[in-house]
Amino acid sequence: MALKIWLNDRLVDEAEARVSVFDHGLLYGDGVFEGIRVYDKRVFEMEAHIRRLFDSARAIRLQIPMSPKEMTKAVETTVAANNLNDGYIRLVVTRGVGSLGLNPFTCKTAGVIIIADKIQLYPEELYEKGMKVISATTVRNHPLALPPQIKSLNYLNNILAKMEALDVDVPEAIMYNHEGYVAEATGDNVFIVRNKIVYAPPVEAGSLEGITRAVVIRLARQEGMEVVEKNLTRFDLYVCDELFLTGTAAEVIGIVEIDGRVIGDGKPGPITRLLRDRFYSYARRKEK
Ligand code: PMP
Repeated sequence: MALKIWLNDRLVDEAEARVSVFDHGLLYGDGVFEGIRVYDKRVFEMEAHIRRLFDSARAIRLQIPMSPKEMTKAVETTVAANNLNDGYIRLVVTRGVGSLGLNPFTCKTAGVIIIADKIQLYPEELYEKGMKVISATTVRNHPLALPPQIKSLNYLNNILAKMEALDVDVPEAIMYNHEGYVAEATGDNVFIVRNKIVYAPPVEAGSLEGITRAVVIRLARQEGMEVVEKNLTRFDLYVCDELFLTGTAAEVIGIVEIDGRVIGDGKPGPITRLLRDRFYSYARRKEK
Protein backbone atom coordinates (compact mmCIF):
# COMPACT_ATOMS: atom_id res chain seq x y z
CA MET A 1 0.00 0.00 0.00
CA ALA A 2 1.28 3.42 -0.91
CA LEU A 3 2.33 5.51 2.05
CA LYS A 4 1.28 8.98 3.02
CA ILE A 5 4.38 11.07 3.56
CA TRP A 6 4.61 14.33 5.48
CA LEU A 7 6.36 16.80 3.21
CA ASN A 8 7.09 20.27 4.60
CA ASP A 9 3.65 21.29 5.82
CA ARG A 10 1.24 18.52 4.82
CA LEU A 11 0.67 14.89 3.91
CA VAL A 12 1.17 13.87 0.30
CA ASP A 13 1.00 10.57 -1.56
CA GLU A 14 4.25 8.65 -1.69
CA ALA A 15 4.49 9.25 -5.45
CA GLU A 16 4.39 13.01 -4.89
CA ALA A 17 6.94 13.00 -2.08
CA ARG A 18 9.87 14.40 -4.03
CA VAL A 19 12.71 16.70 -3.03
CA SER A 20 14.70 19.05 -5.19
CA VAL A 21 18.16 18.13 -6.49
CA PHE A 22 19.18 21.54 -5.13
CA ASP A 23 18.32 20.61 -1.53
CA HIS A 24 21.48 20.94 0.53
CA GLY A 25 20.42 17.87 2.46
CA LEU A 26 21.20 15.95 -0.71
CA LEU A 27 24.07 18.08 -2.01
CA TYR A 28 26.01 18.25 1.27
CA GLY A 29 24.33 16.01 3.83
CA ASP A 30 23.33 19.28 5.42
CA GLY A 31 20.48 18.44 7.74
CA VAL A 32 19.46 16.36 10.74
CA PHE A 33 17.21 13.39 11.35
CA GLU A 34 15.64 11.02 13.84
CA GLY A 35 14.67 7.36 13.77
CA ILE A 36 11.74 6.63 16.08
CA ARG A 37 9.79 3.46 16.90
CA VAL A 38 6.05 3.05 17.07
CA TYR A 39 4.80 0.34 19.42
CA ASP A 40 1.08 -0.45 19.57
CA LYS A 41 0.28 2.85 17.83
CA ARG A 42 2.30 4.79 20.43
CA VAL A 43 5.34 6.81 19.43
CA PHE A 44 8.14 5.67 21.73
CA GLU A 45 9.98 8.39 23.67
CA MET A 46 8.55 11.07 21.40
CA GLU A 47 9.61 13.95 23.63
CA ALA A 48 13.22 12.80 23.79
CA HIS A 49 13.39 12.37 20.01
CA ILE A 50 11.85 15.77 19.32
CA ARG A 51 14.25 17.38 21.80
CA ARG A 52 17.26 15.68 20.22
CA LEU A 53 16.10 16.74 16.75
CA PHE A 54 15.80 20.36 17.81
CA ASP A 55 19.15 20.20 19.64
CA SER A 56 20.84 18.77 16.55
CA ALA A 57 19.26 21.52 14.43
CA ARG A 58 20.33 24.24 16.85
CA ALA A 59 23.89 22.94 16.84
CA ILE A 60 24.10 23.31 13.07
CA ARG A 61 22.15 26.59 13.00
CA LEU A 62 19.26 25.03 11.16
CA GLN A 63 15.93 26.75 11.73
CA ILE A 64 13.17 24.15 11.79
CA PRO A 65 10.07 25.83 10.34
CA MET A 66 7.80 24.35 13.03
CA SER A 67 7.66 24.41 16.80
CA PRO A 68 8.41 21.21 18.73
CA LYS A 69 4.68 20.98 19.45
CA GLU A 70 3.79 21.27 15.76
CA MET A 71 6.45 18.69 14.90
CA THR A 72 5.00 16.30 17.47
CA LYS A 73 1.56 16.77 15.95
CA ALA A 74 2.92 16.20 12.42
CA VAL A 75 4.53 12.93 13.53
CA GLU A 76 1.28 11.77 15.14
CA THR A 77 -0.71 12.77 12.06
CA THR A 78 1.65 10.80 9.80
CA VAL A 79 1.47 7.70 12.00
CA ALA A 80 -2.34 7.85 12.04
CA ALA A 81 -2.60 8.46 8.28
CA ASN A 82 -0.62 5.30 7.62
CA ASN A 83 -2.50 3.18 10.16
CA LEU A 84 0.76 2.20 11.70
CA ASN A 85 0.57 -0.11 14.73
CA ASP A 86 4.21 -1.12 14.92
CA GLY A 87 6.82 0.50 12.81
CA TYR A 88 9.54 3.02 12.31
CA ILE A 89 9.40 6.74 11.72
CA ARG A 90 12.12 8.55 9.83
CA LEU A 91 11.98 12.25 10.53
CA VAL A 92 14.29 14.35 8.38
CA VAL A 93 14.94 18.08 8.33
CA THR A 94 17.07 19.25 5.42
CA ARG A 95 18.71 22.65 5.00
CA GLY A 96 16.37 23.15 2.05
CA VAL A 97 16.69 24.29 -1.53
CA GLY A 98 19.61 26.60 -2.27
CA SER A 99 22.19 27.33 -4.89
CA LEU A 100 25.17 25.14 -5.73
CA GLY A 101 27.95 25.98 -3.33
CA LEU A 102 28.23 25.39 0.39
CA ASN A 103 26.60 28.59 1.61
CA PRO A 104 23.65 27.37 3.73
CA PHE A 105 22.22 30.88 3.89
CA THR A 106 21.06 30.55 0.27
CA CYS A 107 18.54 27.99 1.54
CA LYS A 108 15.47 29.93 2.54
CA THR A 109 13.35 27.26 4.21
CA ALA A 110 14.28 23.95 5.75
CA GLY A 111 12.58 20.89 4.31
CA VAL A 112 10.64 18.53 6.58
CA ILE A 113 10.05 14.88 5.71
CA ILE A 114 8.26 12.35 7.91
CA ILE A 115 8.04 8.74 6.78
CA ALA A 116 6.11 6.22 8.89
CA ASP A 117 6.74 2.73 7.61
CA LYS A 118 7.26 -0.86 8.63
CA ILE A 119 10.48 -1.70 10.33
CA GLN A 120 13.30 -3.91 9.11
CA LEU A 121 14.54 -5.88 12.06
CA TYR A 122 17.44 -8.19 12.67
CA PRO A 123 16.12 -11.79 12.54
CA GLU A 124 14.92 -13.12 15.91
CA GLU A 125 17.57 -15.83 15.70
CA LEU A 126 20.28 -13.19 15.98
CA TYR A 127 18.88 -12.06 19.33
CA GLU A 128 18.89 -15.62 20.64
CA LYS A 129 22.31 -16.61 19.35
CA GLY A 130 23.94 -13.22 19.64
CA MET A 131 25.75 -11.21 17.03
CA LYS A 132 29.38 -11.00 15.97
CA VAL A 133 31.13 -7.69 15.51
CA ILE A 134 34.54 -6.39 14.54
CA SER A 135 36.56 -3.36 15.57
CA ALA A 136 36.50 -0.83 12.75
CA THR A 137 39.75 0.78 11.65
CA THR A 138 37.73 3.86 10.65
CA VAL A 139 38.02 6.25 13.60
CA ARG A 140 34.84 7.96 14.83
CA ASN A 141 34.60 11.61 13.80
CA HIS A 142 36.66 13.83 16.07
CA PRO A 143 34.17 15.58 18.38
CA LEU A 144 35.80 18.93 17.63
CA ALA A 145 35.34 18.33 13.90
CA LEU A 146 31.72 17.22 14.05
CA PRO A 147 30.16 16.53 17.45
CA PRO A 148 28.78 12.98 17.26
CA GLN A 149 25.79 14.10 19.37
CA ILE A 150 24.49 15.83 16.24
CA LYS A 151 22.39 13.30 14.37
CA SER A 152 23.27 14.76 11.01
CA LEU A 153 22.40 13.58 7.54
CA ASN A 154 26.07 12.85 6.94
CA TYR A 155 26.68 9.27 8.03
CA LEU A 156 29.73 8.59 5.88
CA ASN A 157 31.94 8.06 8.92
CA ASN A 158 29.60 5.32 10.12
CA ILE A 159 29.03 3.91 6.65
CA LEU A 160 32.77 3.41 6.13
CA ALA A 161 32.91 1.42 9.35
CA LYS A 162 29.76 -0.52 8.44
CA MET A 163 31.36 -1.60 5.16
CA GLU A 164 34.35 -2.95 7.07
CA ALA A 165 31.95 -5.19 9.00
CA LEU A 166 29.94 -6.29 5.97
CA ASP A 167 33.16 -7.10 4.08
CA VAL A 168 33.87 -9.82 6.64
CA ASP A 169 30.24 -10.94 6.88
CA VAL A 170 29.36 -9.51 10.28
CA PRO A 171 26.49 -7.05 10.72
CA GLU A 172 28.11 -4.40 12.91
CA ALA A 173 31.40 -2.72 13.77
CA ILE A 174 32.57 -1.06 16.95
CA MET A 175 34.02 2.39 16.36
CA TYR A 176 36.78 3.89 18.50
CA ASN A 177 37.55 7.55 18.93
CA HIS A 178 40.76 9.40 18.07
CA GLU A 179 42.20 8.38 21.46
CA GLY A 180 41.39 4.72 20.98
CA TYR A 181 38.45 4.62 23.40
CA VAL A 182 35.20 2.92 22.46
CA ALA A 183 32.77 5.39 20.92
CA GLU A 184 29.80 3.40 19.61
CA ALA A 185 28.71 0.95 16.94
CA THR A 186 27.80 2.33 13.51
CA GLY A 187 24.15 2.78 14.45
CA ASP A 188 23.94 1.67 18.06
CA ASN A 189 25.42 2.42 21.49
CA VAL A 190 27.75 0.01 23.27
CA PHE A 191 27.55 -1.52 26.77
CA ILE A 192 29.62 -4.14 28.55
CA VAL A 193 29.13 -6.11 31.76
CA ARG A 194 32.03 -7.10 33.98
CA ASN A 195 31.57 -8.65 37.43
CA LYS A 196 27.85 -7.79 37.25
CA ILE A 197 28.57 -4.07 36.79
CA VAL A 198 27.21 -2.47 33.63
CA TYR A 199 29.58 -0.07 31.86
CA ALA A 200 28.85 2.34 29.03
CA PRO A 201 31.28 4.69 27.34
CA PRO A 202 30.42 8.30 28.16
CA VAL A 203 28.74 10.21 25.37
CA GLU A 204 31.80 12.49 25.27
CA ALA A 205 33.82 9.53 23.98
CA GLY A 206 32.09 10.20 20.67
CA SER A 207 28.65 8.73 20.44
CA LEU A 208 25.17 9.81 19.74
CA GLU A 209 23.29 10.31 22.99
CA GLY A 210 21.14 7.26 22.35
CA ILE A 211 17.56 7.35 23.56
CA THR A 212 17.49 3.55 23.91
CA ARG A 213 20.76 3.85 25.85
CA ALA A 214 19.16 6.26 28.32
CA VAL A 215 16.11 4.02 28.79
CA VAL A 216 18.30 0.93 29.28
CA ILE A 217 20.45 2.71 31.88
CA ARG A 218 17.27 3.70 33.73
CA LEU A 219 15.84 0.17 33.59
CA ALA A 220 19.16 -1.35 34.73
CA ARG A 221 19.25 0.97 37.74
CA GLN A 222 15.63 0.11 38.51
CA GLU A 223 16.76 -3.52 38.62
CA GLY A 224 19.32 -2.54 41.23
CA MET A 225 22.28 -2.83 38.89
CA GLU A 226 25.27 -0.56 39.13
CA VAL A 227 25.77 1.37 35.88
CA VAL A 228 29.05 3.19 35.35
CA GLU A 229 29.83 5.53 32.47
CA LYS A 230 33.54 5.39 31.78
CA ASN A 231 35.96 5.20 28.93
CA LEU A 232 36.40 1.68 27.60
CA THR A 233 39.26 0.26 25.58
CA ARG A 234 39.39 -2.52 23.04
CA PHE A 235 40.89 -4.66 25.81
CA ASP A 236 37.83 -4.05 28.00
CA LEU A 237 35.63 -5.40 25.22
CA TYR A 238 37.87 -8.44 24.74
CA VAL A 239 37.73 -9.50 28.39
CA CYS A 240 34.21 -8.48 29.42
CA ASP A 241 31.57 -10.97 30.57
CA GLU A 242 28.87 -9.56 28.33
CA LEU A 243 28.68 -7.07 25.50
CA PHE A 244 25.50 -5.65 24.04
CA LEU A 245 24.29 -2.87 21.78
CA THR A 246 21.26 -0.62 22.09
CA GLY A 247 19.40 1.36 19.46
CA THR A 248 15.96 2.30 18.27
CA ALA A 249 15.77 -0.42 15.64
CA ALA A 250 17.87 -3.11 17.36
CA GLU A 251 16.51 -2.44 20.89
CA VAL A 252 18.95 -4.52 22.98
CA ILE A 253 21.09 -7.11 21.19
CA GLY A 254 23.81 -9.34 22.65
CA ILE A 255 27.25 -9.57 21.08
CA VAL A 256 29.01 -12.91 21.41
CA GLU A 257 32.20 -12.39 19.45
CA ILE A 258 34.48 -9.45 18.70
CA ASP A 259 37.53 -9.66 16.44
CA GLY A 260 37.50 -13.46 16.77
CA ARG A 261 37.40 -13.37 20.60
CA VAL A 262 34.43 -15.17 22.13
CA ILE A 263 32.63 -13.17 24.81
CA GLY A 264 31.54 -14.99 27.97
CA ASP A 265 30.35 -18.46 27.07
CA GLY A 266 29.49 -17.48 23.51
CA LYS A 267 25.81 -16.79 24.18
CA PRO A 268 24.05 -13.57 25.18
CA GLY A 269 24.61 -13.31 28.93
CA PRO A 270 22.03 -13.14 31.74
CA ILE A 271 22.17 -9.37 32.23
CA THR A 272 21.83 -8.75 28.50
CA ARG A 273 18.83 -11.06 28.36
CA LEU A 274 17.24 -9.47 31.41
CA LEU A 275 17.67 -5.96 30.04
CA ARG A 276 16.40 -6.98 26.62
CA ASP A 277 13.35 -8.45 28.32
CA ARG A 278 12.77 -5.39 30.47
CA PHE A 279 13.20 -3.08 27.50
CA TYR A 280 10.85 -5.17 25.37
CA SER A 281 8.13 -5.02 28.03
CA TYR A 282 8.72 -1.36 28.80
CA ALA A 283 8.53 -0.32 25.16
CA ARG A 284 5.30 -2.24 24.73
CA ARG A 285 4.06 -0.89 28.08
CA LYS A 286 3.56 -4.25 29.71
CA GLU A 287 5.20 -2.70 32.73
CA LYS A 288 6.05 0.74 34.00
N1 PMP B 1 24.59 5.75 17.49
C1 PMP B 1 24.31 6.07 16.21
C2 PMP B 1 25.40 6.52 15.32
C3 PMP B 1 23.00 6.00 15.75
O1 PMP B 1 22.70 6.33 14.49
C4 PMP B 1 21.97 5.57 16.62
C5 PMP B 1 20.54 5.54 16.16
N2 PMP B 1 20.30 4.56 15.19
C6 PMP B 1 22.31 5.20 17.93
C7 PMP B 1 23.64 5.33 18.33
C8 PMP B 1 21.28 4.73 18.91
O2 PMP B 1 20.47 5.80 19.30
P1 PMP B 1 18.93 5.61 19.64
O3 PMP B 1 18.86 4.66 20.78
O4 PMP B 1 18.46 6.97 20.01
O5 PMP B 1 18.28 5.06 18.43
